[in-house]
Amino acid sequence: MDCILNQTHFLNARLADGTVADLTVAGGRFSAIAPAGNAARSGAVDLAGRLVLPAFVEGHIHLDTSFYGDAWRPHVPCANGFDVRERVAFQMRNLEQAAPMAERAKNQLELCVGHGSLAMRSHVMVDAAVGLKHVETILAVREKYRDLIDIQLVAFPQSGILSSPGTAELLDEALKLGCDLIGGLDPASFDRDVKGHLDVVFGLAEKHDAGVDIHLHDRGTLGLFEIEEIVARTTASGMQGKVVVSHAYGLGDISADALAGAGERIAAAGVAIMTNAPGDHPFPPVAALRKAGVTVFAGSDNIRDSWWPYGDGDMLNRANMIGYRSGFYEDWELEAAYDVVSHAGARALGLEGYGIAVGAKADFVALKAEHVPEAVVAVPTERTVYRAGREVARGGKVSFLGCPIYRSPDIA
Ligand SMILES: [Zn+2]
Repeated sequence: MDCILNQTHFLNARLADGTVADLTVAGGRFSAIAPAGNAARSGAVDLAGRLVLPAFVEGHIHLDTSFYGDAWRPHVPCANGFDVRERVAFQMRNLEQAAPMAERAKNQLELCVGHGSLAMRSHVMVDAAVGLKHVETILAVREKYRDLIDIQLVAFPQSGILSSPGTAELLDEALKLGCDLIGGLDPASFDRDVKGHLDVVFGLAEKHDAGVDIHLHDRGTLGLFEIEEIVARTTASGMQGKVVVSHAYGLGDISADALAGAGERIAAAGVAIMTNAPGDHPFPPVAALRKAGVTVFAGSDNIRDSWWPYGDGDMLNRANMIGYRSGFYEDWELEAAYDVVSHAGARALGLEGYGIAVGAKADFVALKAEHVPEAVVAVPTERTVYRAGREVARGGKVSFLGCPIYRSPDIA
């Protein structure tokens, strides 16, 4: 059986520009987009004026450490305010009692797909204690779900690099096994050696021709200093467009003057910034950075894990949070919040064939909203998700329709 439908027609799709169109999908991609009103075709799907958006981009998640679908783990606060090292210790303790990782990862994946994300970047923990166990498990999960969702994996040194002997070698091995990017973690506050930490990260990136995605929680001028170092190395190694700083809290609490200069340099180096607009941290000013030309994208980050109890895997809800926390009210601002979880994410992840356009992959979401601003504020839950023109989820639930290419033993 041919897994990709030869041709499918979707009628009365409302596009982001407000027009209503008929879409034709052939070989999993849009082959024609024409004004609505063409004669009804047998087997066509009538979208009845639903807004059609390209599938959302979940740009930062941790598939290995969530307890979503597992037993509830009450949050334990740090003794003296947020401390990454202490949270990692809580996490190790929790993970020892958790359900099998593949099962928890599957729960999280299906949650995200159900809400309309069909591309994802997951960080996967690598350190001396867990070795490559997490990487091996999540690589297998990715393989199982490859026809449903595109997943990039980051080899993530959750316990630092220099302060966790043997980690650099394990990261090297993780990239050989199939991770796409090399991660990092607070080079200053965690490893207390910015140069040493970034030498390993950029050295491995060069060796494996891999992208870079660094967790940076350090705030204020310390965080800004680290960002400037990352920017300089990106330019020096010709890695423009392949480097991300995740969280970058430091950009959220520096002066407007400092931010203006930093924004220009970040944009010029093609370094993207990921934010999930976390509730109790200053976060990068989305509007100012976008104005400077920086690609700002988003992810759920932690979902019901040892870091916080929140998270629902819904990138449209994330756009709502980003807009709310950024004080976005006007339509163009709400559209910017949506861009952060869609097109900007696709740019940051280097996705090919993204969007609603002839030639693009027919990975899309149909939902009840008049336009993008309404979708961002209303966050409609009634959604249908299509992968390569095939329905894969409805009402938040993954719903395969019998195509072998999308079938996976775990979700049959
Ligand atoms: Zn993270």
